[in-house]
Amino acid sequence: MKFNTKIIHGGQEHDLAYNAVVSPIYQTSTYSQSTPGGHKGYQYSRSANPTRYALEKAFASLENGKYGLAFSSGLAAIDAVLKLLKPGDEVISTVDLYGGTYRLFTNIYEDFGIKFHLVGMKNPNTIKDFITPNTKLIWVETPTNPILSIIDVMEVSKIAKAHHILLAVDNTFATPYLQQPLDLGADIVMHSATKYLSGHSDVVLGGLVVKDKDLADRLYFIQNASGAICGPQDAFLVLRGLKTLHVRMQRHCENAKTVAEYLNTHPKIENVYWPGLKSHHNHHIAESQMHDFGGVVSFSTKGNDYNAAVKIVENLKIFTLAESLGGVESLANHSASMSHVSVPKVEREKIGVLDSLIRLSVGIEDKTDIITDLKNAIG
Ligand SMILES: *Cc1c(COP(=O)(O)O)cnc(C)c1O
Repeated sequence: MKFNTKIIHGGQEHDLAYNAVVSPIYQTSTYSQSTPGGHKGYQYSRSANPTRYALEKAFASLENGKYGLAFSSGLAAIDAVLKLLKPGDEVISTVDLYGGTYRLFTNIYEDFGIKFHLVGMKNPNTIKDFITPNTKLIWVETPTNPILSIIDVMEVSKIAKAHHILLAVDNTFATPYLQQPLDLGADIVMHSATKYLSGHSDVVLGGLVVKDKDLADRLYFIQNASGAICGPQDAFLVLRGLKTLHVRMQRHCENAKTVAEYLNTHPKIENVYWPGLKSHHNHHIAESQMHDFGGVVSFSTKGNDYNAAVKIVENLKIFTLAESLGGVESLANHSASMSHVSVPKVEREKIGVLDSLIRLSVGIEDKTDIITDLKNAIG
């Protein structure tokens, strides 16, 4: 089955009760049993729920995995992966991590005795310097947030495999439409389905996909034991959103290309970050591991003035000033005061999150309106 067909049908069966074409919302906590243990596979909705299961199968299908798991948020999904670890274990991850992931690693799991090495992975060989016998997990984001760095997943997976280390990839920015990390050698794919997978800025939900049965069993155990599951309504919304992922992504990428090229020639703009630009540091890797370059474009202004950047985001009219990304509507984010406010200034500047950095989640509106809006706001 080709991806554009899988997005509609992948992992999906018609409802067993009444042949409903769309997976119904099973808004129930429990299920009747004819005799103790006499049930149809569902006993209690923390452990399993038919709507959630339909979503989990869709996740697995889209990422070319075997097992999917859905959580109450992207961070709950990351949290479940970290619970595979024990005190004394070490994790190698990227320097320009999503702010919430950084906070979870450094403000929570470090206190539980897990050590994190946050390293630049533009050249994957850097990882080798940080591997110890205790290294159990490599956590990669690509493209990264908000600088859109590209990491070569296949090269990282070779290093991980050689040292028997699990490799997890946060595929939120790319989505399986653009990039399938399991095919590139990753063991775990993670999603904030809050973003492109649901696509309509109306739900918070996370997902994991793996191929290995033993790993799936361990993660399922954690999902059930810790209980950070998503509700059936939210699972339904993501299932609904998923079905248009391919058409939305196509337009996101097309509009983002127009925006990146516009900003790239603007006299007031200093840096433009979008993996599709020839000037991008790892453009050739993006070309080989992605089908297109995604809908997020970041930029900083000449003079790097904090207040000037704030003025730009305030002046935007089509772009809404808001956290998050990946919805049909265009959003703008001033990273230093919003998404990366929990990352200390020195740390944030080391990774290129300058005072004037603005991250655009380019929506699927008409691109001439989007460009006019930027033109008016930047001046
Ligand atoms: C939003 C996001 C997360 C966290 O997901 P939530 O659904 O907000 O918990 C993790 N990684 C990336 C790249 C994100 O954009």
